[in-house]
Amino acid sequence: MQICEKELCCGCSACEAVCPKEAVTMTADSEGFLRPVVDAERCVDCGLCQKKCPVNTKAPEVAKAAFAAYSKDSDIRKRSSSGGIFASLAKKIIDDGGAVFGAGFDENMKVCHYCAETEKDLYGLMGSKYVQSDMGDTYKKMAELLREGRTVLFTGSPCQVAGARNLFGENDRLYLMDFICHGVPTPLIWEKYLRDNFTKVTNASFRDKNRGWEEFSMRVESENGEYNCSRYTDPYIRMFLANVTLRPSCYSCGWKDPNFCADITVGDFWGVSKINPAWNDNKGTSVVIIRTEQGEKLLDILKNDCFLAETDEKKSVSSNGMYSYCTPMPDNRDVFFRMLKDDAPFAELKDKFGKPLPGAEIIKVRIKNRIKMCLGAIARLKRK
Ligand SMILES: Cc1cc2nc3c(=O)[nH]c(=O)nc-3n(C[C@H](O)[C@H](O)[C@H](O)COP(=O)(O)OP(=O)(O)OC[C@H]3O[C@@H](n4cnc5c(N)ncnc54)[C@H](O)[C@@H]3O)c2cc1C
Repeated sequence: MQICEKELCCGCSACEAVCPKEAVTMTADSEGFLRPVVDAERCVDCGLCQKKCPVNTKAPEVAKAAFAAYSKDSDIRKRSSSGGIFASLAKKIIDDGGAVFGAGFDENMKVCHYCAETEKDLYGLMGSKYVQSDMGDTYKKMAELLREGRTVLFTGSPCQVAGARNLFGENDRLYLMDFICHGVPTPLIWEKYLRDNFTKVTNASFRDKNRGWEEFSMRVESENGEYNCSRYTDPYIRMFLANVTLRPSCYSCGWKDPNFCADITVGDFWGVSKINPAWNDNKGTSVVIIRTEQGEKLLDILKNDCFLAETDEKKSVSSNGMYSYCTPMPDNRDVFFRMLKDDAPFAELKDKFGKPLPGAEIIKVRIKNRIKMCLGAIARLKRK
């Protein structure tokens, strides 16, 4: 049984969750991405997996309102990748007795979804992880909690959220939040990066803000001490931004504007300085797009704890190509995955695909960032 077209399978695992015979198992393919494998002995051809697969259904176009936003809590903002919108919502849902699902690290630094029911659990979910997250039995746990009458916030990539929408439909107690997505890298390159460069890794952040939000960096804590390397030079981030490490379906992703399935979509408000320099203090500003009535309820929650300024949707995403377009597949992706399958050392992959930005380019972007920050500071002074 083929559930959907192979190249388009996004690995959301809705098919595994819906199968009444447990005939579908998500299994890593040769590139390290999880795909459904159907046990023909157990399969009864009921077609539910095909019906609930988000690749086979079309997402509705819905009304939108856009905001520039960031949390007023400086600790939340510092720990988060952009404005800390996720944590602001999640904290409130948990305080009110709800549960929050998102992507964190397990004890082996593998990226996987888990459920947070306390504020302490929430810390691990904060921050973008540039690796495809393993959903495990997330949808099953969500179904149980919803049956118990609990409120659930599910956050994930647009395709994972599309899977959740297909499985659960509209539900007053369920909130779905996705993000503008560049694409998800294979877990195999993350494992190799850690294994070949560090010993006993205890924590990592793909979006450390020590140098500010605009020049985020990779931070890895391990027995070797603390590693911190700018987005312009860290080889893992360079490969991510060179687009070679991504899942095949990311290059033809079906969940771009206007087909997001979430109640609320968040992203980095890259280009915010062009719209209003005062909204950029280099600590992280998010763009927040409200799509549904459930999304409006989330907006009400944000009103208490966040700075919010309504803005034009089209303008707000004009510097964020990933809102509307898929990442293009580079010609050398095949070479990258061939080397990965041949177990090439990370150092070789780095030399070929993860070169740092040239020094002169780095100086140019740093000067641009400085100018943006100065303009922002002047605009904020004038506003006072
Ligand atoms: C792989 C990936 C690619 C992205 N690409 C873009 C982009 O091109 N443009 C853009 O504007 N924004 C992108 N983002 C989103 C952006 O980095 C911020 O996460 C987003 O703006 C929310 O910020 P925040 O401060 O509110 O929350 P954060 O604290 O950053 O919380 C992030 C939320 O995302 C979830 N999450 C983190 N990693 C994953 C993962 N691997 N899979 C599923 N869910 C995850 C967490 O559970 C949490 O709920 C991307 C995020 C990821 C994970």
